[in-house]
Amino acid sequence: MFITLEGPDGSGKTRQIHPLADFLTEQGYEVFCGREPGDTFIGEQIRQVLMDHQNKGMHPRTETLLFCAARAQLVEEIIRPHLAQGHVVLLDRYADSTLAYQGYGHQNDLGLIRKLLDFATGNLWPDLTILLDIKPEVGLRRRQEGGGEWNRMDAYQLQYHERVRNGYLKMVAAEPQRWRVVNADQSPDVVQSELRDLLLSYLSN
Ligand code: C5P
Ligand code: MG
Repeated sequence: MFITLEGPDGSGKTRQIHPLADFLTEQGYEVFCGREPGDTFIGEQIRQVLMDHQNKGMHPRTETLLFCAARAQLVEEIIRPHLAQGHVVLLDRYADSTLAYQGYGHQNDLGLIRKLLDFATGNLWPDLTILLDIKPEVGLRRRQEGGGEWNRMDAYQLQYHERVRNGYLKMVAAEPQRWRVVNADQSPDVVQSELRDLLLSYLSN
């Protein structure tokens, strides 16, 4: 089972995913929990290039291709082998992030980005995707307060993040069978318990 967490900056994906993975492990599932870009040797190097240059002159197409390159490696090196063994793969971001940020955010051709994502992932899309939904101004405030190793809010305006969030909501509306939405503007404990309920009921069906 392939499950991804998506959401705007500051929505709490990274904070929520580890206790969620631990919980599923306690329930008896074999879980691989990862993040992207990263988690492979090549992917971590690409992550570093993105962190160093994304806000400093990197063209949006370069950015798009680098996210896709890291993802292609992750799919083949890690995700497919785990899925083949029947494990639950739980990821902090995946291809939908590229649609949201590089597609809706940068206003690139969405059809082209989808084709690129099909190519990069070898057509591997998640079974379930959870959107941690939050208004950009709330998420960005959280980021400012809580840090995070990498963020682009200095370089990008609120409008950019509004396009990202609205892009996510459009994706949910277009493919409701794959997506679930959790309100991320609640206390972390409440969000965690909603995520646990949602995944338990999904996995037991
Ligand atoms: O995953 P996280 O929220 O920590 O993302 C790190 C940074 O990378 C964020 O500022 C996010 O806006 C950006 N990002 C991006 N395009 C993606 C994924 C993340 O610009 N596809
Ligand atoms: Mg994060």
